[in-house]
Amino acid sequence: MIGSGVVLRTRSWTALGQSLGLSLGLLLALLTTASPAALAADCPGRPDALGTSRTLVVDPREHPLIGTMQYRETLPLKDHEVVLTFDDGPIPKYSNQVLQILADECIKATFFIVGNQAKANPEGVRKLVAAGHTVGTHSMDHPLTFDRMPVEKAEAEINGGIEWTKAAMTDPSKLAPFFRIPGLMRAEGVENLLISRGIQVWSADFPADDWRPVSSDRVYQLAIQRLEAKGKGILLLHDIQARTVAALPKIIRDLKAKGYRIVHVVPATADRPATPTTPVEWLLHPPTETTPIARWPRVPNFVFAQIKTLPAPLLADLNAQAEHQPLLPRRTKGQVDVASVLPVPGRDLFAIPEGSVEVLLSTTLSRRAATRLAMAAEKPRPAKDKVAKGKTARLQVKLQGHRTAHAAHGTPKHSAQADSPAPTSTPPKTAAPRPTRVASLKKRA
Ligand SMILES: [Zn+2]
Repeated sequence: MIGSGVVLRTRSWTALGQSLGLSLGLLLALLTTASPAALAADCPGRPDALGTSRTLVVDPREHPLIGTMQYRETLPLKDHEVVLTFDDGPIPKYSNQVLQILADECIKATFFIVGNQAKANPEGVRKLVAAGHTVGTHSMDHPLTFDRMPVEKAEAEINGGIEWTKAAMTDPSKLAPFFRIPGLMRAEGVENLLISRGIQVWSADFPADDWRPVSSDRVYQLAIQRLEAKGKGILLLHDIQARTVAALPKIIRDLKAKGYRIVHVVPATADRPATPTTPVEWLLHPPTETTPIARWPRVPNFVFAQIKTLPAPLLADLNAQAEHQPLLPRRTKGQVDVASVLPVPGRDLFAIPEGSVEVLLSTTLSRRAATRLAMAAEKPRPAKDKVAKGKTARLQVKLQGHRTAHAAHGTPKHSAQADSPAPTSTPPKTAAPRPTRVASLKKRA
């Protein structure tokens, strides 16, 4: 009924827009900012009613777990769309008041019935159905142990709720395959059981804490604050609480004032196909280009072709020579003692052979000193020789210069050097030692 009303209204707006020659943009603006009064055309005698903006048909098998309080997906609502849900009833005293408030505003909601309440108050279930609300179930006894009870017991609870709710209905086919786990005490086994039976598991997007001992004002504030934070979603309430009855009119008043719209959810049937949606619409906030998320490819789920396990490795495979030998050699006392009996190195081990002066140059003399020495040695050379023999000469100068420096030290720094044979070869004439340079080298060494 509500759905066809929306279609008719949309058509009339379209016709009006065309007749006035309005642009499509202006027409869309008119539709999206349509006041609640426009929707209230479906609410006879209540022009200011909030109304129900549209009916959403869902297929439980396509999206079995909904409600961002616990699941990745939620109902494919547009911004500022709200679904009202009421748990734990019906209890005549409060449920009837909730029914009246909703009727006054032409709001359609979803009720999750407790089997024992349906058994005690079947008339209450029939009233819900007659008023056009969606009716799902909420277990038989409402135990808050679904997360730890055996699946068989959970199944008995689920079946009891369904059985007694159906028994209360004039037409049992009116029962929606929707289930809310008591206290939202979810468990994978329970969810899998419900999914296997084609029952949609409803969590919520936000509660209003109306089962706690808080004021009705607090319930109203929480409902609005949490809705505003998410912008849309499934509101969880209880039609068995006085504070909920007191808060509901204020919640509805604010929904109207803030431009929220009520969506009525019904299950798909053979002659009522699911509302077409895209997978991304089932996310509360679909990813956008401005949302920084990792777009790496997913790790694939490996399917093993064989489940046969590999044989355990043998010790021999790990290079262990004996069965009880540790895998890594242990540090033994004997090995420690070996170090203390190594032969003492001879003194000449530290003697610096003649040929290793170049190494010393690189370590004990600065590059600048060596260059200066080489330049000094090159000065007396004829210009024509410089180019031809430059490289060789520089090397010789370095070698000779350093030998001279060492000789000039008098007492060698390393005592071991005392045993080394004194340089006996005559220095080449091209690089005669110069006492002044030697002195400067000694300072720097
Ligand atoms: Zn409950």
